[in-house]
Amino acid sequence: MNKISILPDNLANQIAAGEVVERPASVIKELVENAIDAGATRVQIEIELGGRRLMRVIDDGTGMLRDDAILAFERHATSKIRTLEDLSKIMTLGFRGEALASIASVAKIELTTKIKDETAATRVIIEGGKLIDVKDAARDTGTTISVRDLFFNTPARRKFMRSEATENYHLAGIVTHYALAHPEIAFTMTNNGREVLRVSPAKDLRERAFQIFGAGMLESLLPVSGGREFVAKVSGYVSAPRERRTTRDAQYFFVNNRFVRDKTIAGGLLEGFRSVLPHGVYPVAFLFVDVPIEEIDVNVHPAKTEIRFRRNEAVKDVIAEAIRNSLAKAGILPEPVQVETEPVGNLTGSIDEYVETPAAAQLPIDFQGAGAEIGSGISSGGILPVNGTYNDRPSEAGDTLRDGGAQ
Ligand code: ADP
Ligand code: MG
Repeated sequence: MNKISILPDNLANQIAAGEVVERPASVIKELVENAIDAGATRVQIEIELGGRRLMRVIDDGTGMLRDDAILAFERHATSKIRTLEDLSKIMTLGFRGEALASIASVAKIELTTKIKDETAATRVIIEGGKLIDVKDAARDTGTTISVRDLFFNTPARRKFMRSEATENYHLAGIVTHYALAHPEIAFTMTNNGREVLRVSPAKDLRERAFQIFGAGMLESLLPVSGGREFVAKVSGYVSAPRERRTTRDAQYFFVNNRFVRDKTIAGGLLEGFRSVLPHGVYPVAFLFVDVPIEEIDVNVHPAKTEIRFRRNEAVKDVIAEAIRNSLAKAGILPEPVQVETEPVGNLTGSIDEYVETPAAAQLPIDFQGAGAEIGSGISSGGILPVNGTYNDRPSEAGDTLRDGGAQ
């Protein structure tokens, strides 16, 4: 008798879920990306018990036809690419067709969705990868997806979930990232029924940063705008050196508007600040790096938070140069410094060289300490002000070691 057999779909999905769904924040990342890819102008996020009991994302995007709503939960089911060629010019955040199948295999899902031209919406119920029910429902155009009891059928993974405060902290980080990357989209977030974020459509990143972090932070921000054609364009904001952080928690990086954890950008940023900030002190940064699509590979890891630059050193240099120019314009550095970029074709090495060590990458800045809820310093206007305690994140033994993974 032969020994090899093909794994059942659901088991394969659960194994894949190990990579895509590390923690509640990874689920929210995938669901928010789907909402953005669906052209939503309004994204509403509801969290209960640190995502353990419930995560719900409501969008006003295109919605799905009934057949698509069912197919969406199959592995490798995607509307975003069809050919290998498409993969090399990805414009959407998703493309692997893996997220919903993975999430559905380790949670209880209810999806309600309607496209513009249909009168009825469709409701699909899936538990642990099993299709339980499909029926008509009522809803405006768009999609609501509720994810309950994450890891209910995978006790080993459930054990790895951290305290509510820690999971909330990561959830807030993801939502903050996407809110910064998409000022044009309105976001709201509730945590155990309490509103922790409400931002209306903003005209640009600066206005969005103001909505999220308040005026205090805005005053210290210096604009960054630079880069080189064919290598990388850099834009965004960094803080003036008087703003000092002892962690990188207030650094938000994006490549082609995709949230990334990336050591190249962190390295370029630090390099740019080298002569003005002492070792161990980090600036606040919202950095958007635009790289020609053929210069990066986003398909490095299922969670897509790691990317590979073809010309790693050149990108780093360009970022450092843009930062120095920005500091020079503000009178902080004497004059713009020109840096030689690496010659074309300098291929990058292993991804391990660039991926941040645990907990070192981008984390949210709106926490007031262990046990705090997301945005505990919320103002009456529903905006999360900067409270200046960037390193007061919830800390637990073991957390640091687990934070480096995909989100
Ligand atoms: P991917 O995003 O990589 O394509 P997913 O598993 O995240 O894979 O989603 C599968 C498909 O389901 C998507 O390609 C899209 O067509 C559809 N989909 C998922 N979420 C939404 C949503 N919020 N609105 C509309 N369509 C969606
Ligand atoms: Mg997706």
